[in-house]
Amino acid sequence: MKLVLSTDNKNKIKEIKDVLKDLDIEILGKSDVGCDFEVEENGDTLYDNALLKAQAIADKTDFYVLADDTGLFVNSLGGDPGVHSARYASEHNDKLNREKLLKNLSDSEDRSAYFKTELVLIDPDKNIIPIEGICEGNIIEEERGDNGFGYDSIFMPLGYDKTFAEMTLDEKNKISHRSRALQKLKIKLTKIK
Ligand code: IMP
Repeated sequence: MKLVLSTDNKNKIKEIKDVLKDLDIEILGKSDVGCDFEVEENGDTLYDNALLKAQAIADKTDFYVLADDTGLFVNSLGGDPGVHSARYASEHNDKLNREKLLKNLSDSEDRSAYFKTELVLIDPDKNIIPIEGICEGNIIEEERGDNGFGYDSIFMPLGYDKTFAEMTLDEKNKISHRSRALQKLKIKLTKIK
């Protein structure tokens, strides 16, 4: 089985290869199948964006295709930054995004939040298989920790007294939204094979 990812991001490819390493699946990046284009992520939901990205590749190949989209949803902000997490304050500036979130939450007692990863798998018959992974937690008041990226240094998962940015990658990967979604994907692919 060949599985094409809607990305060429080396970290994402490595993470997925690690999770699926026991299965006999060849993992390819999108440029391996001649898909060098970027898809505009202008959907209203994570699912819409993941579907847009998966569909663009599935139109060009009959292998399995997988796309993902992730966001941080803060309950007292009506789910913001949500689907706009990467560009909440400024595109690709994680620090400004975190600062904006802390400022917007400064008056809130409820600091509960969750990360959600939405995966869309499209099979060779073009069936669409959505899969999601969630990690619940709270937004703390000041940044803590140097690891990770994005909102890691202000997100403390439920049941822990350290942020994602204070965890090793192995610790984070045991409980993260993305790894939970990927574990579900693994179960699905194991049944398909
Ligand atoms: P993407 O869909 O994986 O590109 O994620 C979109 C945005 O969500 C990123 O730019 C980050 O700001 C945020 N994000 C996604 N995953 C994580 C995570 O594991 N930790 C912290 N922030 C994340």
